[in-house]
Amino acid sequence: MELDPQTFIVASMLAALMMMIIFFGQARSFPKSIKGFNVWGIALFTVTLAAALLAARGFIPGPVSIVLGNGLLALGIALMIVAISIFHNNPVPWKLSVVCVVFVVAGMVWCLSTEQEQKIRTILGSGSNTVLLGMVTWAILKGRDKSQFQLGIYFSSICAGITTLTCFARLVTLVAGIGEPHGGLLDESPVQRIYLMSYNINVLLASVGFSIMGHEKLVDSYQALASRDGLTGLYSRTRFIELAEREAQRAERYHCDISLVLIDIDNFKQINDTCGHQAGDAVIKDIAAVMHHNFRDIDLLGRYGGEEFIALLPETPMVDAKTIVERVRSAVDQRTVVFEGGEITYSASFGVAQAQPGLPLEKTVGQADKALYHAKKEGKNRVEVFPLVIVPESSL
Ligand code: GH3
Ligand code: MG
Ligand code: MG
Repeated sequence: MELDPQTFIVASMLAALMMMIIFFGQARSFPKSIKGFNVWGIALFTVTLAAALLAARGFIPGPVSIVLGNGLLALGIALMIVAISIFHNNPVPWKLSVVCVVFVVAGMVWCLSTEQEQKIRTILGSGSNTVLLGMVTWAILKGRDKSQFQLGIYFSSICAGITTLTCFARLVTLVAGIGEPHGGLLDESPVQRIYLMSYNINVLLASVGFSIMGHEKLVDSYQALASRDGLTGLYSRTRFIELAEREAQRAERYHCDISLVLIDIDNFKQINDTCGHQAGDAVIKDIAAVMHHNFRDIDLLGRYGGEEFIALLPETPMVDAKTIVERVRSAVDQRTVVFEGGEITYSASFGVAQAQPGLPLEKTVGQADKALYHAKKEGKNRVEVFPLVIVPESSL
C-alpha cells in the first residue's frame, strides 16, 4: 500500500486536533486536583502546527517551514514535559527542555544562513528531539507508584520511549550514513517512512496513555476518599474490614498472633446533649488523634460507627495488646477537649480479643464486642478482654 508522507501527516494532524479537543474537555470535567490536561492539549496543538509547517515544504517559504516547524515541534514536546510535571506535581528539570528548543531554532537559523546541507539540519533536529522525548518518557515514569500497576503510565511511557528510540535511530542512521543521504522528513526512503509513522502514531498513543493516567488518578482519588472517614481521617469501616481480613489471612499463613480492639466513648450522648453535637464531633476527632499517637504505626485504625472505633494489632498476642490498649485508655482519660471556651473531659471503654486460627474475623470482632460490653457493665473507662474474666459476686 502506498501512502504519501504529506497525506499521512495531514491525517495524523486531524487525529491530534481531535485529541486536543478531548484534552480541553477533560481539563474541564476532571476535578481541580487532576492537572496538566490543558497544557497537554496546547502541546498537541503546537506539534500539529509544527507538522503542518513541515509538511507544507514547497508551498510556503523554506525558512518558515524549517525554522518555525522544527522550533514548534521542539516546543510542543517541551510542553508535554511541563504537562506531565504538573500532572505528577513533580517538577522536572525544565531548563534542559528550554535549552533544546533554543538550540533547535538557533541551529536551523545557522544552517540556513551558512547554507549547510539538509543532513546537518536533520541531525540537529533529531538530536534535540531525542533528548526531549527521552525527558518525556522519564518524566512520565518518575511519577509512578511502584506499589500498584498503572496502565496509563506504562502505556504512555512505552509509546514515548518508542518515539525516543525512533528519533535516536534516525540520528544514528544519518550520522553513520545509512539509508537516504539527506534524511528529510518527506523523503521517499523506508527509514524516513518508518520514522514518520512511528513518530506520529506514538505521539497520539502517548496522548491516549496520558488520558488513561488522568482516569486512573480519578479512580485513586475516589478510592482514597471512600477508604477514609471524613471526620477523623481513620479508615472507614468497609476499608478497615477489607484490610483487616487481608492481615488476618497473612497472620494465619505465617502463624502470627493478632489482636482486635473495639473502643466506645463513655456517656457520649450526654456530651452531645449538654455541649452540642459539634462538641461531640470535636471529642470524636480528639480520640482519633489519641489513637494515632498511642497505637503503633503498624496498627490498623478505623472508625467503626458513630463514637465507636476499631483497631487491629498485627503480630500482637493478648498479653502485649492489653499493655498497649491500657496505654491508650490512660491517654484518653487524661485528655481535656477545649470547645468554644468550655472544657470537656471524657473517657472510653475497650474490649480486646485475640484472633484464633480458623475463626472468621467477624467472630473475633464479636468477641471484642462482648468484652467491650463487659467493660461498660463493670463501670466504663476500663479495658476488658475475651474470654471474659467474671469475678463471682461471692468473692467480692
Ligand atoms: P455508653 O457509655 O454506654 O457508650 O453511652 P453513650 O452515651 O456513649 O451511648 P451510645 O453509644 O448509645 O451513644 C452514641 C451516641 O453517639 C448516639 C448518637 O447520637 C451519637 N453519635 C453518633 N455519631 C455521631 C457523630 O458523628 N457525631 C456526634 N456528635 N454524635 C454522634
Ligand atoms: Mg456506642
Ligand atoms: Mg458510647
